[in-house]
Amino acid sequence: MSHQQFDPGALACAVAGTVLTPADAGYDAARTVWNAMIDRRPAAIVRVRDDRDVCTAVRAAARAGLPVAIRGGGHNIGGLAVCDGGLVVDLSAMRGVSVDAAVRRVEAQGGAQLRDLDAAAQREGLIVPGGVVSSTGVAGLTLGGGFGWLSRSCGLAADNLVSLDLVDGSGHLFTVDAGHHPDLFWALRGGGGNFGVVTRFRFCAHPLASDVLFGPTVHRMGDAASVLREYRDFCADAPRECCVWADLCTAPPLPFLAPEHHGERVLILMQCYRGDLAEGERVLAPLRGIGRPIGDAVAPTPFCEAQARLDDTYAHGARNHWASQSYAALDDDTIDRVVALAGTMPTDESDILICQLGGAIDDVAPGETAYPHRGTAFMVTPGARWRDPDDDARCVGWAREAGRRLAAGASGRAYVNFEPETAASAPRVFGASVDRLRQVKRRHDPGNVFRVNHNVAPAG
Ligand SMILES: Cc1cc2nc3c(=O)[nH]c(=O)nc-3n(C[C@H](O)[C@H](O)[C@H](O)COP(=O)(O)OP(=O)(O)OC[C@H]3O[C@@H](n4cnc5c(N)ncnc54)[C@H](O)[C@@H]3O)c2cc1C
Repeated sequence: MSHQQFDPGALACAVAGTVLTPADAGYDAARTVWNAMIDRRPAAIVRVRDDRDVCTAVRAAARAGLPVAIRGGGHNIGGLAVCDGGLVVDLSAMRGVSVDAAVRRVEAQGGAQLRDLDAAAQREGLIVPGGVVSSTGVAGLTLGGGFGWLSRSCGLAADNLVSLDLVDGSGHLFTVDAGHHPDLFWALRGGGGNFGVVTRFRFCAHPLASDVLFGPTVHRMGDAASVLREYRDFCADAPRECCVWADLCTAPPLPFLAPEHHGERVLILMQCYRGDLAEGERVLAPLRGIGRPIGDAVAPTPFCEAQARLDDTYAHGARNHWASQSYAALDDDTIDRVVALAGTMPTDESDILICQLGGAIDDVAPGETAYPHRGTAFMVTPGARWRDPDDDARCVGWAREAGRRLAAGASGRAYVNFEPETAASAPRVFGASVDRLRQVKRRHDPGNVFRVNHNVAPAG
């Protein structure tokens, strides 16, 4: 098929939003994403204003044979919101969220961030389960699965989808739900950004009218091996209202920590309980009693405040590389490997994060959605974080090696939203879903217009 030349001027005339090219003042800011490792130069960035703009932009890119990168929140670790030489469809001006409290439905535009979703839902005493850093895009997070503090009680973000509006590779807009394009509805819940631009997500929401019981208990790194064993055992019997993530990191100057511990390597058990607060105190007491904590600041907390608590730790602008592994169970050997790796972290901003999953996430059968990690009890992610480009090889090397060392006992699948490496990554990140995803891709994006992602090649 022959392609027409791409004309950014013509696209600018055709859309209500703005088009930025390398000649424009705002271009460099617009191609900057969360991970400072990413430095890509698209042919143009179209900051869309509405659904029609998205259709126009996708058609222009398809006619010119340009790859399309889709920017939701710009948080992806692999920088999948930008590409070299292609067209970025940037939804950052489409962040609207509306709530219908009577039927517990929340509708978010494709560029909304978690903070937009959380604020709007909480004004009505509702929540949609999402991630744990408030600037993360709803779009990328949900399309890859999406878990956070409330996923053990309410499921993945993707599990709470009721319908989506999608612009496919031919530039057509249509609604996808269980009754309309059920193959796409399956694929969009875990298959990432392979199938088109989602302009609107509709979620079912859950009630949360009070504070959550939330905060950290901090231990010395020297106690980490034994505390993590007890943490694992606590998690095995924990109710789904409760979620605890463990982070091996360098202690920031937290106000409740004695100054002599600031800058020390520590283990933080970050806890969240949704439900009756007195019952939460009772449930979390055994965990908070483990070992010899050097600090504890678990307290009733407004949900939106809890959602923003880690924002500074993972703020935009640092260089980052991650490697994640999923486990059906954490055995002692894995815990010992994690603790040993924590002793080799390359910078004070680096960490190893253990996410507790399970609960409601596993109420959905494997295969019911494209998300391939049902039955995962814990996800472990070594994250290198640094500032100086001269440290790139050392820090990326550490994260990759850490991932390799943690592979024993793991599922062999990486979480699409935590995976920076895209070369031939589809089997690794989509696991058993990959063949069916390829069939859906063939039906809905045979030209692979959407290939700036963990790409699923169209079948055949
Ligand atoms: C600090 C930090 C904290 C995180 N915490 C969590 C967490 O708690 N839980 C969790 O599950 N994940 C978490 N993540 C991972 C996060 O889910 C992914 O980075 C996700 O890709 C972010 O979505 P985004 O819209 O910001 O991404 P972007 O970088 O904008 O886009 C990523 C990919 O998503 C697709 N995409 C984006 N917008 C659209 C759209 N409108 N339509 C179709 N496709 C689209 C595109 O294919 C793009 O390639 C975190 C990431 C960071 C950096």
